[in-house]
Amino acid sequence: VIEQKNQILKEMITRDPMTSLLNHDNAFRALQDEINRAKRIGYPVSVIMADIDDFKAVNDRFGYQIGDQVIVGVAGIIVGTCRRTDIVCRYGGDEYMLILPDTFMKEAMLLADRIIKRVEGTELINGIRVTLSAGVSEFDGEPPKELIFKADRQLHRAKHSGKNRACFPG
Ligand code: GH3
Ligand code: MG
Repeated sequence: VIEQKNQILKEMITRDPMTSLLNHDNAFRALQDEINRAKRIGYPVSVIMADIDDFKAVNDRFGYQIGDQVIVGVAGIIVGTCRRTDIVCRYGGDEYMLILPDTFMKEAMLLADRIIKRVEGTELINGIRVTLSAGVSEFDGEPPKELIFKADRQLHRAKHSGKNRACFPG
């Protein structure tokens, strides 16, 4: 019984209760683990940082509770588009981080584009439609913070070049 309760407690700590995705702290830990594994085995790891476009307007128009449901809906689309071995995290309010083991930049770009198209084409709660922007990076020996930062820089490029798109270095 204690073991079961501990398991439930652990889930509560590691998962974001709203979306059931890994929360920020554990996202970082998961990335560190994946990087270590990648170094050991020698496979690539890519990261996607994704953020809902103009999400403040959704909250303003429909209220925070509907906004919450939109965040959950987008999480569902992302999880449904990824492989089972990909790790999807809620990194912040309307920001998601995807850790993609055994995935080169090129494949990560294809995935990001597929997610963005699906989000654009899906009616969420109350028929609401949103778009998503994303930045992609591939592990190249740097510490996890820097890998996240590389993807974040590309996310900013995507936002500044018109949103509803994915950018990658180069
Ligand atoms: P951008 O296209 O630049 O991303 O514009 P944006 O309006 O989406 O701006 P930004 O991502 O900076 O803002 C996210 C907003 O999400 C700000 C905050 O009020 C809202 N938010 C953060 N967490 C939650 C949440 O858990 N639920 C809801 N409903 N809103 C949240
Ligand atoms: Mg946003």
